[in-house]
Formats: sequence, C-alpha cells, structure tokens
Amino acid sequence: MSDFILVAVAWPYANSEIHVGNLTGSYLPADIFARFQRLKGNHVLMVSGSDSHGTPVTVRADSLNTTPLEVYQSYHASFLELYQKLGLSYDLFTSTHTENHFKVAQSVFLALLQNHYLYNERQQQWFSPSQNRFLPDRYVEGTCYLCGYTNARGDQCDGCGSLLDATQLIEPRSKIDGTTPELRETEHFYFDLGALEPVIVEFLKLRESYWRPNVLRQSLGQILADGLRGRAITRDLDWGIPVPVEGWNGKCLYVWFEAVIGYLSATIEWAQITAQPEAWHNWWTNPDSRTYYFIGKDNIPFHAVIWPGQLLGVGEDFVKIFELRSNKHLVLPYDIPANEFLNLEGKKISGSRNWAVWGLDFLNRYDPDALRYYLTATMPESKDTDWDWEEFVRRNNDELVATWGNLANRVLSFAYKHWDGLVPNPGELRTEDLELLELVNAGFQSVGEQLEAVHLRSALDEALRLAAEVNKYLDRTAPWFTIKSDRDTTAKSIYTALNAIDSLKKFFAPFLPFSSEQLHSYLGYSAPLFGSQFTEPHADNLGEHTVLRYQPSLQEEQWAPGKFKSGQTLRKPEPLFKKLEPGVAVEERSRLG
Ligand SMILES: [Zn+2]
Repeated sequence: MSDFILVAVAWPYANSEIHVGNLTGSYLPADIFARFQRLKGNHVLMVSGSDSHGTPVTVRADSLNTTPLEVYQSYHASFLELYQKLGLSYDLFTSTHTENHFKVAQSVFLALLQNHYLYNERQQQWFSPSQNRFLPDRYVEGTCYLCGYTNARGDQCDGCGSLLDATQLIEPRSKIDGTTPELRETEHFYFDLGALEPVIVEFLKLRESYWRPNVLRQSLGQILADGLRGRAITRDLDWGIPVPVEGWNGKCLYVWFEAVIGYLSATIEWAQITAQPEAWHNWWTNPDSRTYYFIGKDNIPFHAVIWPGQLLGVGEDFVKIFELRSNKHLVLPYDIPANEFLNLEGKKISGSRNWAVWGLDFLNRYDPDALRYYLTATMPESKDTDWDWEEFVRRNNDELVATWGNLANRVLSFAYKHWDGLVPNPGELRTEDLELLELVNAGFQSVGEQLEAVHLRSALDEALRLAAEVNKYLDRTAPWFTIKSDRDTTAKSIYTALNAIDSLKKFFAPFLPFSSEQLHSYLGYSAPLFGSQFTEPHADNLGEHTVLRYQPSLQEEQWAPGKFKSGQTLRKPEPLFKKLEPGVAVEERSRLG
C-alpha cells in the first residue's frame, strides 16, 4: 500500500545566494529522501518556496537601492537555477508572495483569533517622524547600552554580540536617513503559546522515542525548562501579508509566523495548478499521512514548537474558514530531522565575508553528483562537520570514482565489447554468483531502512560497502583473464556483476540521480529512472511568480531488484564521474575569503 508523504523543506530567505551549508543542512537531504520514497512507490509531495517577506529582504533592498519585490524576484530566479542544476526535485517550489499564500496565512490567523489564541498587547517602538513610520529593530542603530559600541544594531550588537532591546539603545538613529527616532506606543497581536503548552508538550512526548536528540533538546527540553510565553506575531512593516483585521493598516504578519504556513499553502497551490484542488487533503487532513520537515538547527523552535502550536491552535477551523467545511484537523509534523551546521575549512561559513562555497559557483566547475556525494558523506546529521577541499578531492577520487564509477564502467564496457552490446546469457549461475546477488539485493532492506530513518550517511556507506563487495567478487572471478580461455564462465561473472550493478544503481539513485539515470540508460532501459524538472510562470493580482515543478516518470522503477535480463541491449557506456587533480584543493582554497 502506498503512503502519503509530505517532504516539507526549509524556505530560503530571498536575500542572499545559497551556499553548501544551506544545501547539506536541509535542501539536499530532503531531495534524497523524496527520491527514495518515490522509488518505494509512495505518494510524495516535496514543497517549499522563497521566503520573500520580512526585514531581511527590505534591508537588502535598501542597501541595493531597489525594491523588496525586485530583491526577492532576483534571488528566487537564482534558487530555481541552482535547484535544477543540482536536481532538487521539488514538486512545487513557489514563494510566499502569492495571493494563495496570503489567503492561507490569513485564514490560519483568523482561525487562531476565533479560537482565542491571539491577544493584543501595547509596547514601545521607535518611530521615525521624518518618514512617518515605525522602524523595525534592524532599522535602528545606536550605541550599545551594554558595551558602549557605537554602531550597534537594534536587534543585536556586533561589538559584544549581545541580543539587544532596541528601545534601550543610546543615541538612536534611523538607518534609513540618519534622523533621530522617538519612542511611541504601538499595538501588536501575540500568539498565546502559553495556553497551548500542554497540547504542544503532549505532541512532542508522542515523538520522543524517534526524534533526533538535538531537535528534542530545543523543543521539549526548552519547554520543560522555561515554559512557553506569548510571542508577537505582527510587525509595523508594509512589505508582507497584511493583518486581516480592520484598523490594522500598515501592519503585517511577522515573517516567521507566515513562512511556516507556506508548507500548507504550497501544497494547496500544487493541488490547484495540477487541476485537482481537493488533493491537498491527502497530505494535510489524512491522519495516515506523514509529514517530514527538513531544516537546519537554527530553525528548530519554529518548526518543532511554534508551527505545531499553530496547527493545534487552529483545530478544525482552518478548513472551516478556508473551504467552508469542518471536522478536519490538520496533520502534525511526523518528523523533523534537523541537521547541524557544516563549517568550511574549520571556520563557520559566512556569506558576508565570502567564507563560503556557493552552490551555483561550484556547479560551474564540477558535476552535481560530485557535490551531492561529498555533501552526503559529510552531512552534519548528529554534529557539526567540516567542508575540506582535500577531503572533497579524496572522496571523489577514492570512493565515487574508484569504488563505484569504475566498477560500473569497466563491467559495462567489457560486456559491451565482448558480447556485441548485449547482456550475456549466463546459463546456470554458480553458487558464488547467487551468493553475490543475494548479498547485494539485501541492500534493498539495509540501505532502505537507513533511508527510511533519514540516516542518509549510513545509507550511502552501506551502498558503497555493497559496491566494494562486487569489486571483491570481480577480483575473485577475474573475468578480464578468463575471457581468453573460458567464455561461458566469463559470461556468468559478467552477467552477475551487471545484475548487481543494476541493483546498486537504485541504492545510489536517491543520492546520485544524474549518474544513476545515465547508468540506467547504459544498462539498456528505455523509460527513465526519474521524472523531470521544469519551470512555469504563474500570475495573480500580486504579479508573476515562476515556480519549479517535477513531473514524475510514468514508469517509475521500484525499490526492488529490476527486470534485468540476458539479451537486453546495452548502450555504449561513458565514465560516470571525473577524477580530480590533487591541485584542485590548493586552487579552491585560494578563492576563499
Ligand atoms: Zn555591545
């Protein structure tokens, strides 16, 4: 029976390019998991989009002397380019700046309001008389009241690193025009997380046995230690989703409150553009569906506490308000396999200091599967890990090329040459052949279990271990020598090795989709292993937004040994991967910083 699985992927802020830390933190593991679940025959939906609102985008727009809309659109376009080049198979990658998302987010807000989980509170905030507007914390600078640093930002001091209360800044000035702001009273909506604490704790305890320790620490652990308090969910800002209450002009939903709602709104948008408007219910109101959230560790509280709080708080009322129906609860997160951070050559990645390996820049020089391989092998699943250029070269050459790529290439080339491009007829297989096939095909269980548990490094290690077993088998049976004297025996060895490679191809496929697709074709299959990605423009009253989509393959292969037969026509193989020169590490290091 196939399951409904939602692969919900972190929304990148549309105010900077994507680096390898972002990729391995959430986007790549999500794609590996989605591709695996599709091979298993499940109903997978992988969604995300550009997080286009909030002060990070407006501050960037001000610094570039342009509009937030233009900033978001230009980064959105570069995300789409990167995701296609790296093969991130989003069923829908959209944006938060769509009419649909506005409506869904406002419906969630109204359901919480109706259920009494929102309240108002007055507070002091800096106001710019010259611009006649309130200034978000990032728009005010001044002297730090803790250390005396004169260029402290309203939210944080770069002098002492402390988080600041913007209203206490000494000699404040507006970042926009340098004028002196004054404190005025403003009113905001607060999300009453305190009232939801018991049900949030209950939700977390049900998942305690299988969630990652770091995720539990930052959710259940934090709540049990400190409890939950209300959080402001509106801002005095005009770039974003308007608060859907009369008299609240000029205020927006806080970007974090609305961005997490994007998982729901993107599913609804996907259902609409694929002309099956009801289909979103399969993932969101079906109690048997499983939702996985792929995020970095900095986003854990928002996904493991606040978002479940929103879902619990709306109860059945989201569906009531949005679709005029009732009796449908929204599905709570099943798992949140958040990753730790990837550092670069021993130091924290910093985009602003250019201490980063940028996704698009990397792919101008190397193949996507080489990046996917190295990022999986070093994925920070349980602790911070490090990108090291020498390690990248070593793993590429010793593991990807030597253990896997050469195995596939030399067996295929040999078969292609000696059997006229056909899979040889082995006659009856020997015990050692059957043993190898049994050993390798056990990977559907062992690699599959690790993938299912989102232990992606272990899954890749296991696939590589099985490839090494096939290499050992070839050392023992030595078809390159037996061909001179015993063609029948050689046919058995080569047939067995090809068959094993056909299975290995599937183990590697979620990690290495490009080379696995190539290999699939060399092995003589005509229908592709995977579907295809494409972009398409959509327009609404907020403007045009281009989305990335994925069209699944019609004859998707299954997570089981293939229908590989003797007599099948092979295609002329080419090497799957490129060996790298040792000088690469030195050259790449000189680009940094
Ligand atoms: Zn300070």
